[in-house]
Amino acid sequence: MDCGKARRIEMDKTDDARGIARLAAAVLLTILPALAAQSFRLSLPATHGPLLDKAAAIFTRRVNQRCGAASTARTVTIELRISSEIGPEGFSIANGPRRAIRVTGGDEHGVLYGLGKLFRTSRCEGGVFTAGEWRGTSKPAGSLRGVYLASHFGNFYEAAPLEELEGYVEDLALWGVNALGFSFPAWQYASYDDPAARSNLLRIRAMMRAAKSAGMQVGALVAPNQVFNTAPAELRAKPYPDDWGRRGFLGVNVCPSLPAGHEYLLHVWAGLLNQYRDIGLDFVTYWPYDEGGCGCPQCWPWGARGYVNICRDLSRMARAQFPRMKVVLSTWMFDSPPAGEWEGLTKVLAEDTPWANYIMADAHEDYPRYPLERGVPGGLPLLNFPEISMWGMAPWGGYGANPLPGHLQQLWNQVSGKVTGGLPYSEGIYEDLNKVIYSQFYWDPKRTAIETLREYAESEFSPAVATSVLRAVELLEANHRRKNGRFEKPPRQTREALELIRQSDRILSPQARHSWRWRILYLRALIDDELSNTGGKPQGPVLKDAFAELVRIYHAEHVHTNRVAPPPLLP
Ligand SMILES: [Zn+2]
Repeated sequence: MDCGKARRIEMDKTDDARGIARLAAAVLLTILPALAAQSFRLSLPATHGPLLDKAAAIFTRRVNQRCGAASTARTVTIELRISSEIGPEGFSIANGPRRAIRVTGGDEHGVLYGLGKLFRTSRCEGGVFTAGEWRGTSKPAGSLRGVYLASHFGNFYEAAPLEELEGYVEDLALWGVNALGFSFPAWQYASYDDPAARSNLLRIRAMMRAAKSAGMQVGALVAPNQVFNTAPAELRAKPYPDDWGRRGFLGVNVCPSLPAGHEYLLHVWAGLLNQYRDIGLDFVTYWPYDEGGCGCPQCWPWGARGYVNICRDLSRMARAQFPRMKVVLSTWMFDSPPAGEWEGLTKVLAEDTPWANYIMADAHEDYPRYPLERGVPGGLPLLNFPEISMWGMAPWGGYGANPLPGHLQQLWNQVSGKVTGGLPYSEGIYEDLNKVIYSQFYWDPKRTAIETLREYAESEFSPAVATSVLRAVELLEANHRRKNGRFEKPPRQTREALELIRQSDRILSPQARHSWRWRILYLRALIDDELSNTGGKPQGPVLKDAFAELVRIYHAEHVHTNRVAPPPLLP
């Protein structure tokens, strides 16, 4: 396939090494003068920190994955430089001397994000690397450009091999993602010593380490009163109003207004902080509901009383260990139904010293009106928590990729210019495209979901199929919504979407065609079309094979709920 060419990658740090590399390149040029293809070598400044080495390694790994064993012909030098004039996390890509490409970061993070842009605009046609031609300067608008990786139910984050998880975290860094949040699902376990709990923490810690080494901030998402399933019955929280059925309840919440409950919660929190001691927490995001909450007279209204009090106490404890840790107060399902929670939190934060750094808000559908119309409690910066995983389709990821550019754009338009980032909620890799769309909203609020989708398709698949992929995604999104495992309305043009994807499949490189990002999109088009043939019933050999492949991609062989794997096949 690659005609015997082999790409050569060098990362050298000294002039001597560079000289040898240049000589080697010159020799190769002499040997293979007829080939126009490029290989690349990365040139790092003599003095630099570990993040620059990591950025170079991530870029190299991704090019290797995409190009396979490729060409050695014309070597392009990619110079990595730092210039604080560009500003934190920003980058520029420009032509350097002797046909080099210069990627300059405002700091080492900026170099990493610049290499991400260079990677996405570079091409591998026929296994041959061709450096991207995008030139310019780019700086992020949002400060906390995160993703929340939920690891539970046996989903991808709880089940995939560590190497895959670490690689995926690095892939996100190339898109400018600079924060990852993790939640330890204590309600699934008896204690920190529960073997299953240890396994879950092992994975969270591995992803945290990968995130840190890729320059990201890492944080814990915690429902401050949600605990192990062995918590004493007498400490359990009291029921709270959930007339709209939106607040979630797994039955293992403790009341923080009971002195023994308060003490128990501090003890559990100390245990979790201990798990993250060597890694270091950069932020904590507290969660009021789903899970969480207590409806006793001392705690209610939860979002303005019990919740605030316990969050303040946990923060004090955590900052004794991690002094620069930021506190994000989520308002998830506040006033759903109305209980004076937004008003109450505003009042409390106006009177209290500022122990919180951000307010997070969002909802299953439209953004909550209170912070947009009445102001953010405490005058704090606002974050969002967009739902990219579960909306309108269950089981989550059960039908393959769930790209939602139209829906996400409509939600983003409500908060663009008003939030400084956020943590999209992720249940797996099937919504990779939705994560990426948000990473770019946070980077540049004016960048549309469609623009990002095109860059993704050109980069991950091929420029030759980008227009077809955009049209196919439009059709898939139109047929997205399902209820009880059935299309909500009769699906339309499923065959057209499948044909577009099949035609594209035929012209992709082997690497792109076999990549999981392509396969989950292909399978989604195939599954939708087949379901429209079976009248919505999950049955028959086509769906059997498609579902089995999704299970392999997600490592969903051992899920412990029916939420994160394809639906069961009917006989
Ligand atoms: Zn209570």
